[in-house]
Amino acid sequence: MTSTEPGSGSAAADRDPGWDYAPAPESTQVEIAPTQGCWIDGAETPFDPARALPSENPATGEELYRVVDGGAGEVADAVAAARAALPLWAGLAGLERGKILFRVARRLQERAREFAVMETLDGGKAIRESRDFDVPAAAQHFFYHAGWADKLEYAFPGRRVAPIGVCGQIVPWNFPLMMAAWKIAPALACGNTVVLKPAETTSLTALRLAALMSEAGVPPGVVNVVSGGPATGAALVRHPDLDKVAFTGSTEVGRQIARSLAGSGCALTLELGGKSAQIVCEDADLDQAVEGVVRGIYFNQGHVCSAGSRLLVQESVMEVVLDKLQRRMRQLRVGDPLDKNTDVGAIHSAAQLDRVQAAVRCAEVEGAQRVVPLPTDLPARGHWFTPCFFRGVQPNHSLARQEVFGPVLAVMSFRTVDEALARANDSSYGLAAGVWTDKGSKMFHLARELRVGVVWCNSYNRFDAASPFGGNKESGFGREGGRHGLP
Ligand code: NAD
Repeated sequence: MTSTEPGSGSAAADRDPGWDYAPAPESTQVEIAPTQGCWIDGAETPFDPARALPSENPATGEELYRVVDGGAGEVADAVAAARAALPLWAGLAGLERGKILFRVARRLQERAREFAVMETLDGGKAIRESRDFDVPAAAQHFFYHAGWADKLEYAFPGRRVAPIGVCGQIVPWNFPLMMAAWKIAPALACGNTVVLKPAETTSLTALRLAALMSEAGVPPGVVNVVSGGPATGAALVRHPDLDKVAFTGSTEVGRQIARSLAGSGCALTLELGGKSAQIVCEDADLDQAVEGVVRGIYFNQGHVCSAGSRLLVQESVMEVVLDKLQRRMRQLRVGDPLDKNTDVGAIHSAAQLDRVQAAVRCAEVEGAQRVVPLPTDLPARGHWFTPCFFRGVQPNHSLARQEVFGPVLAVMSFRTVDEALARANDSSYGLAAGVWTDKGSKMFHLARELRVGVVWCNSYNRFDAASPFGGNKESGFGREGGRHGLP
């Protein structure tokens, strides 16, 4: 059954009424202190109730813990600690830094389930995602960069490598632990020290990671975490004693940061938003392509910078692809993120849900048709949105141009490969793209001509610590991962 109106389906009606999955709740219990200080110079700072920022569980709307809304004082202390620790850390032999980072990676693996549960409670993503992707990918980044620590002199032939210094790092809420690992692991491998600011709604795993790193032998001051909101981030960026700022987040905030650092001599990398296209050609394995499209936009609730949020399908196979897409979407299970059968968890916050709903309303006003193939009965508490796609999207519609950061797919057609290319490149963003075709020559032609940082061919959203990731145009500059990402 296909519903074009949200609210008209039900789980029982859309799936075989004879059976359903039994609940499979994750049983690992984690202890979360109700209040959390910052992590500065190897210790947790006292919690200040006068500057408390509550963080909720998106699946229930209940408060999980409170962090300090860090101010200029915490930022100054953290930068001073990082500066003081720099000679010791930068002066350690690469082999010794590598050993410590290997230890961090192994400890993270040993405590993987605990970190996965915390990530799911804090961010709303399905436990399958945090267990099978976020935590292993974070550990992989430490393993990979630990391996570089004693080989840096071979990484750039003809160039003398030296640490940059103190790095200010700001990350968003969609992959809190993994983004922290992406930023911290290469910086430390290269002998730098860091001050990390997690997103105001997801500080938990970054703070716990800093404590774990200390247990693993990272000296005090090498990794500092200052919790807080946009003002804390702005205070960090403005601090005059930083040698580099690495920011992941929205294009709008990235622009502000680039403006405020212009002419300061402070190095900068920006990993920003995206409106990535998935191009499905008529010669592709369509089942495989649909699987990649579904994973590319609906998993992690579409809270992925490289989400394949524009689907470009060759006209001759459009109806077949949309039929397969609807069938596959009907199998998606939206609900309790701690249930191991869940595919799509909760939208991260009430504010993000408002943004997704506004984008959907705007698409409807502009004349696109919303299709909701799967059941729409959602939990009563928390922030939820049923994955959907839109037909009849025109290239000038806002759904084709603006990032939604939610499980909403804009479907458009093309007739020739050149038209697909022109449509995919018709975006102010340039983060990623997917190409689905049976023809190697077409694959290479499209990959060469797409003006994006990453192209996946016959796969999508595959990440590896050894592979550089980053964008062009309004998706930012600089690369993370691989040799290209060594700071
Ligand atoms: P955001 O830009 O609002 O916030 C990101 C971080 O910046 C948070 O820690 C926030 O507190 C901080 N911040 C906000 N204002 C600031 C300021 N003026 N100065 C300094 N720091 C400031 O983004 P978000 O809503 O948290 O995350 C979603 C965005 O992140 C999306 O646009 C997404 O595409 C992007 N993103 C990009 C990548 C990538 O690798 N390209 C990865 C993940 C997310």
